[in-house]
Amino acid sequence: MASDLPASPWPGVVAHYRTLIDLPPDARPVTLLEGNTPLIPVPRLADALGGGFDLWLKYEGLNPTGSFKDRGMTAAITQAVHAGAEAVICASTGNTAASAAAYAARAGLRCIVIVPEGKIAKGKLAGSLAYGAEVVNISGNFDEGLALVREASERLPVTLVNSINPYRLEGQKTAAFEIVDVLGDAPDWLCLPVGNAGNITAYWMGFVQYQQAGNAHHTPRLLGAQAAGAAPIVRGEVVPNPETVATAIRIGNPARWREAAQALEESEGQILAVTDGEILEAWRMLSTLEGVFVEPASAAGVAGLRKQIREGEIDVRGKRIVCVVTGHGLKDPEIVLRSAGEMVTLEPDFDALADYLEMPAT
Ligand SMILES: *Cc1c(COP(=O)(O)O)cnc(C)c1O
Repeated sequence: MASDLPASPWPGVVAHYRTLIDLPPDARPVTLLEGNTPLIPVPRLADALGGGFDLWLKYEGLNPTGSFKDRGMTAAITQAVHAGAEAVICASTGNTAASAAAYAARAGLRCIVIVPEGKIAKGKLAGSLAYGAEVVNISGNFDEGLALVREASERLPVTLVNSINPYRLEGQKTAAFEIVDVLGDAPDWLCLPVGNAGNITAYWMGFVQYQQAGNAHHTPRLLGAQAAGAAPIVRGEVVPNPETVATAIRIGNPARWREAAQALEESEGQILAVTDGEILEAWRMLSTLEGVFVEPASAAGVAGLRKQIREGEIDVRGKRIVCVVTGHGLKDPEIVLRSAGEMVTLEPDFDALADYLEMPAT
């Protein structure tokens, strides 16, 4: 009998932070027990960036479908079910699709996802298909997909679960609460990748709300990083054909542009563009120095921090800094296999192995 089962010590982000989340009190959470992700101290990475400060990673790849999108999706699907929806729709560069598909499955809803054909990482497409979503490829980019699903949600009986849905941000802001709960206060800087700009908006909401609730003394400064080929906020204009290896942030016209700009201003933050080369360097440092394997977009915040330190744009001495790493590396295995060197094949023979390793045998 279900009532005899022990309660999970972690009930998911909606139940854990219920009083701080703007959802109808009688809405029953649709959850996969997302959230409560590790905040990992990374001293080797901090040293490689110059040292003299404390650095943590908020490892969001450890959410149930492998990205932070699950925090927002539990809230959005909870509300959709509460409001009587039978179908949900989203446009996605991959992770939103996989997350919507999983939570819709959990709730027994039909799920339609619109993705740019050939531009989403294999692990994300596989997730969406595995969870039983109806995947529709379009011969266009994410921004065109978003325009399409906006119209669909107005004219068809489907609920939109992209981050223009306010419940997504309600769920996503819980990551800020978790960081403060672990550190005892807000960090001095929070660094993260920026695509559609929902996450940076949600973090800011969360930090401000937690401070107002008396749980933190201050709020962090935000450091947002966009990919150089998809940097509309940095450039101050829409990018019609965004391009980057970091497919999760390949977005030219962010839906939460205005809110992100406001969060950056209020936090005395900074936003900058990082090249694909810089993103991939940071991505490699994360996995080889700290054992934290993320998808390329997730490394943009670290790349941005590294660049600002190098260029003397921020003073990190004695500071506490958190980089949000947004999605798991297994989402995009092809990029690893493409960028790794040749692998060796040996006879199954001890001498061959010892020779190859150039180690003296005893
Ligand atoms: C969605 C996503 C982002 C970008 O977040 P926005 O809210 O669109 O700015 C970054 N990294 C990963 C892995 C994502 O899935």
